[in-house]
Parts: sequence; structure tokens; C-alpha cells
Amino acid sequence: MQVLAGLSQKEIEKITDVLHQSKFRARQIHNWIYLKSARSIDEMTDLSREFREELKKVATVTDVKIKVKQESTDGTLKYLIEYPDGACVETVLMRFDNRANLTACVSSQVGCAVNCSFCATGKRGFIRNLTYKEIIEQVLTIQRDTGLKVTNVVFMGQGEPLLNLDNVLKAMEIFNESFQIGQRRLTVSTSGIIPGINRLAELDMQSTLALSLHAPNHELRKNLMPIEDKYNLLDLKSALKNYVVKTGRRITIEYLLIKNLNDTVECAKQLAEYLYDIKCNVNLIPYNPIFDKDYRRPSNNAIMKFKCLLEHSGKKVTVRLERGADIDAACGQLRGKVD
Ligand code: SAH
Ligand code: SF4
Repeated sequence: MQVLAGLSQKEIEKITDVLHQSKFRARQIHNWIYLKSARSIDEMTDLSREFREELKKVATVTDVKIKVKQESTDGTLKYLIEYPDGACVETVLMRFDNRANLTACVSSQVGCAVNCSFCATGKRGFIRNLTYKEIIEQVLTIQRDTGLKVTNVVFMGQGEPLLNLDNVLKAMEIFNESFQIGQRRLTVSTSGIIPGINRLAELDMQSTLALSLHAPNHELRKNLMPIEDKYNLLDLKSALKNYVVKTGRRITIEYLLIKNLNDTVECAKQLAEYLYDIKCNVNLIPYNPIFDKDYRRPSNNAIMKFKCLLEHSGKKVTVRLERGADIDAACGQLRGKVD
């Protein structure tokens, strides 16, 4: 049995060829899957009933299940999705009231090996990479369940996308070509895997690169992110500058704010210094508490003060709105297991 979700138009044509149907039929099926989010072959009503019956013998729309679905008071939806081998990941749909944007936050791996001290996913360890089909199934699941069309995708769920780059790139190609989501509406977030950043630079990626910096000096960053041992701030800076030169794109710097740890005036100064010659915007993320850590979120005043200090250095700074905190769907809270 072939699963239609994840197949390109060419791959669907192979199925319609065997069933002696035209390429136009393949196009119709393709659009039902990606643009009209059909839940079953029966819903593909512009195909004849006979053809649908033939197709049902050899193909099915999907092989993933929604294990749990939660809705936040702010409208954010969180899904726990189960793949045929029993592996589960979480995926989140964020709706921003004042915009038509529907942003899916997708996972790229089951678990994560990077093990940042503040992240619930890291606590779980690394289990396996997701295939590109499994990545795009997350967006299809959201679309099928809500009947809505996702307009933006961010790789900010579980996992480190640049440690599964082949699948992430293939998924991005399909988001672009089959879902018709523009490249600039795709964002890849990384903890700073330098070889991956270099590869994206060579590919002249036109999607947004978001870099999780979180600390402005080596000691502090090592404390929060063990990856700093392997790919340190100094080397990271060269890679980021090269990325900007090659792609012409502005980078998004993500900076987590943890009370009394990396939210001080000194940290803001060091951060401004580190970033002064990197073409970037800064996105401040107030820490979302996870179960077994005693880190705290700074007060709103402290967040605003940090923001002002950075703005004075000439950067554009935004503070990330917290979404879905009441259902543990906020940044870094995704664990992908039922507990
Ligand atoms: N592995 C990638 C992408 C997934 S994490 C990365 O680290 O960039 C997406 C974002 O959530 C990252 O910026 C990450 O640092 C942040 N994050 C992780 N744990 C968090 C927490 N407890 N509170 C707020 N943000 C968190
Ligand atoms: Fe992995 Fe990103 Fe979590 Fe770090 S923050 S453990 S890189 S998912």
C-alpha cells in the first residue's frame, strides 16, 4: 500500500500510469493531498467513483495517527503525532489573531542530542531522525484536522534540523513546491551547527536562518549549551558572516532570557558587541519553565530593559509572544511523549 502524503507529482504519476490514468489525474490527486488536505481518497470527488475504488486498492492518504490533541486558551493547537513504528513527535499550530498567518512549528527529529540545559526535548535524549515525509506529514496532519491551509513553517519543534539536513532540505522543497509556501515563509532554527550553516550558505538558502545564541560569552554559553564546546562563539561568528555574504539574507538571532543568568546589563552589552558586525534582527525569548529546572523567567521590566539596551546598539529587537503555555506547547517545552 502506497502512502500518498509526501509523494511528488512525478511519484503520483507512477501510480496513475499503472492504473492507466492521465497525468492530469495525478495533478488532481496531488492538489487534493497538499492544497485541499483530503482525509481520504473518497473525498477526491473530481475523480470518478471507479477510479477512486481502484486507487483505494493500492494507495492510502496517510499512515500517521493523532494520538493527542490539545487546544490552548489562545487558540494554539498542539498535536502528538504517532508514526507507524510507534515513534511520536509534537507539532504546534500557532494562530496570530491580527494576521492571516497560520504557522506550523514542526519537529525534525525524535528527541535531540544537543542537550541544552533549558530544553525539555534535550532531556529526552536522541531517538532518531525523521524522514522528509514524516516532517511534512506534521503539516498535512494539521491541515487535514483543521481544514485550514498552513502559510508558514518554522523548524522549531523537537530536534536539531541541521543534524538532519538532507531530510529538512527535501521537506523544505516540498513545502515550497507542493504546498506553495514561499521560501521566505520557511524558517530553520539551529543551535549553531557550523557545517550545516556553511552548507546552507553554499546552497544560497533564501529561507530564514534563526540562530539560537542564548549567551554572549563562551563560559555562559557552555553552561547552557554543551554544543559550545564543539562549535564556539568565535567560529560561529565567522560562519554567520559568511552566510550573510553568500545569501544576502539577514539572520534572526534568538536569545533566551533567564532571570539573573543571561539577562544582565553586562550580558546586553556583550551581546551588542558580539552582534555589531552581523546583519541580524534579534528575537528575545522569555524562558518558558520546564519541569525539572529552577531557571526563572525575568520580569517584564527586566525584559524591556534588555530590549532597550540592545536597540540602542542599532538592532531591531522583538520579544517573542508566548503561545500555548497552558498546554506546554511553548518553545522548548515539547517532549513528544505521553506522561
Ligand atoms: N534545535 C533548534 C530548534 C528547536 S528549539 C534550536 O535549538 O534552535 C526552538 C527554540 O526554542 C530554540 O531557540 C530554543 O533555544 C528554544 N527553547 C528551548 N527551550 C526553551 C525554553 N524552556 N524556553 C524558551 N525557549 C526555549
Ligand atoms: Fe535540541 Fe534545540 Fe532543545 Fe537544544 S534547544 S536540546 S538544540 S531542540
